[in-house]
Amino acid sequence: MENYFKSMPDTEGNYGEYGGRYLPPQLQEEMEKITDAYYSISKSHEFISELRSIRKHFQGRPTPVYFARNLSNECGGRIYLKREDLNHTGAHKLNHCMGEALLAKSLGKKKLIAETGAGQHGVALATAAAYFDLECEIHMGEVDIVKEHPNVIRMKLLGAKVVPVSHGLKTLKEAVDSAFDAYLKDPVTAIYCIGSVVGPHPFPMMVRDFQRIVGIEAKEQFSDMTGELPDNVVACVGGGSNAIGLFSSFLDEQETSLYGVEPAGRSFKPGDHASTLTYGKPGIIHGFKCYLLQEENGDPSPVYSIASGLDYPGVGPEHSMLKDKGQVNYVTASDDDCLDAFYTLSRKEGIIPALESAHAVAYAMKLAKEKPRESILVNLSGRGDKDIDFIVDNYGVRE
Ligand SMILES: *Cc1c(COP(=O)(O)O)cnc(C)c1O
Repeated sequence: MENYFKSMPDTEGNYGEYGGRYLPPQLQEEMEKITDAYYSISKSHEFISELRSIRKHFQGRPTPVYFARNLSNECGGRIYLKREDLNHTGAHKLNHCMGEALLAKSLGKKKLIAETGAGQHGVALATAAAYFDLECEIHMGEVDIVKEHPNVIRMKLLGAKVVPVSHGLKTLKEAVDSAFDAYLKDPVTAIYCIGSVVGPHPFPMMVRDFQRIVGIEAKEQFSDMTGELPDNVVACVGGGSNAIGLFSSFLDEQETSLYGVEPAGRSFKPGDHASTLTYGKPGIIHGFKCYLLQEENGDPSPVYSIASGLDYPGVGPEHSMLKDKGQVNYVTASDDDCLDAFYTLSRKEGIIPALESAHAVAYAMKLAKEKPRESILVNLSGRGDKDIDFIVDNYGVRE
């Protein structure tokens, strides 16, 4: 397995035909520097032991694997949850943000720059910046600033500067452009910290490596609990960071089937979903090649999901390759499936999941009904506190 991680991606950041770097020359150079630094620093004893200590004492890792008995009784099968919702700040995103910020600190950087859509990545990065006493600048579309007000407040409390982006559709894509521009103006003291396994090399590799801890822990915990490997492993896929983190420990296990769950939204019509691997075709977005939901001219299509953390028209290059190779099954769950799983998990287990994670739970519930004798390990990537107001305002509490 280690051979897989050493050769994937190759030195140019390619995962088969995907990934790489499609950037102007100045950014190429900066990415080259970050790549070199990552290879030399992240493999050092000092870096590894500091990250280990942070994970344990600050993040609260290892997060448990939990046997969801009531849910299993309801659906059949044996459903286990990897509880990333119990990670500090309530989701898996802090795993890579702490890694990226530690790298920044080791490089002598003073400022972290990033974009955020729903604000989850912004909050995780602002948390990491506070921990390391670094400045933090989060670019966010004006539309999202209004919609995601509590996360804007959180970022400010954590000491981050929130930069409103007022051009175009004023959402995630424009925020990425704005953050890249800010980074280009100041590449010496600042570093760009991406929010998933997307973007130009080395980000998909770095973020995956920082998320691998989820799979490493889960594999050991699951085998301690059951004496076996899981028959099925399920995770939701936006950019794909929580999924690749968990899948990475099972990629070469023949007896385990892997499922990446994309948001099917309201319908399969363009603009009504964000099922990139299911309906997209190869293209280029934000400096890398991947499956892409795109217009005739190659521009990214508008996308939609009830879970704002999943509505991205691209997807990680490694997932794009794993799809072509058939190593992972990419499937979908609709808004309605997601809502059903959201209410069911809350009621049956006392765990309110993030709407993103509820897509994975929805597919696991379906799989459990189809394969009642098998075990299913689900990545519960985050908790639903952030979604409660939205759910109650739009769908009520469902008696
Ligand atoms: C951001 C987010 C996701 C989607 O991101 P990935 O990179 O696909 O993991 C999933 N779950 C939660 C809770 C999130 O905040």
